[in-house]
Amino acid sequence: MNRKKKKPAPIIIANWKMNGTLIDSMQLFKDLRKQIHESLVGCEIVICPPFTLLRDFAEKVPGTGVKLGGQNCHHAHHGAFTGEISAMQLKDMMCDYVIVGHSERRIQSSEGSELVQKKAAHAHTEKLTTIICIGETQYEHDNDLTKIIIREQLLHSIPKSANNSNTIIAYEPVWAIGTGKTPTDEQISSTHQYIKKIIAEELPHIEDSLRIVYGGSVNKDNAQELLANDHVDGLLVGKSSLNMIDFWGIIDAAS
Ligand code: PEP
Repeated sequence: MNRKKKKPAPIIIANWKMNGTLIDSMQLFKDLRKQIHESLVGCEIVICPPFTLLRDFAEKVPGTGVKLGGQNCHHAHHGAFTGEISAMQLKDMMCDYVIVGHSERRIQSSEGSELVQKKAAHAHTEKLTTIICIGETQYEHDNDLTKIIIREQLLHSIPKSANNSNTIIAYEPVWAIGTGKTPTDEQISSTHQYIKKIIAEELPHIEDSLRIVYGGSVNKDNAQELLANDHVDGLLVGKSSLNMIDFWGIIDAAS
């Protein structure tokens, strides 16, 4: 009998970016905790709040099932790097995850793949799971350059230390972030399959396939369809993770 392999529970990652004060973020988390307590949650939930909120979250997350992540980290352990945060400091704040290579950092802070690789390698030494973001811009998409860009970003952003328990790839087309536009199901399948192919063929030190999540204009209305795609292992959510009704709708869809 040709039985379909059951997909593992998806992971839902909230990237709050530079949003939220202590009071409103704690309220959001309180509401989330209440919903989790009252429901059967069938997915992993990771919240990546701004650094200013990590300490308060570090006290509140234990026992809730929610994991914490940083939105970025430096590639050095410590030192004279004004305004930066290290993987060790994230670990100190109970983080298990860190996002590296988000397109907003690649574009706004000119972070290239080599730097992303160094950050990810260092984060692994601190036992953080890295969420390595890749994705093409609108121009690259329109000019059929997606595969070239994806391959370049994968080969140069993934460190040798990566394995399927410490690394997640987030495919986030830049043109889909915050725009309300999403790729078609076929486009997502084809890109995620291409990512798997590049990793299998060109990064053979990574023995098992890495989890690949999709990000870009995910909301409570499209989450179920996105997660139904066999090649999507979870979602990275920006704007819709800042509102309880929207975020819970996504978790519900994943459960
Ligand atoms: C993001 O920036 O990682 C993201 C997915 O944003 P949004 O959901 O708002 O498109």
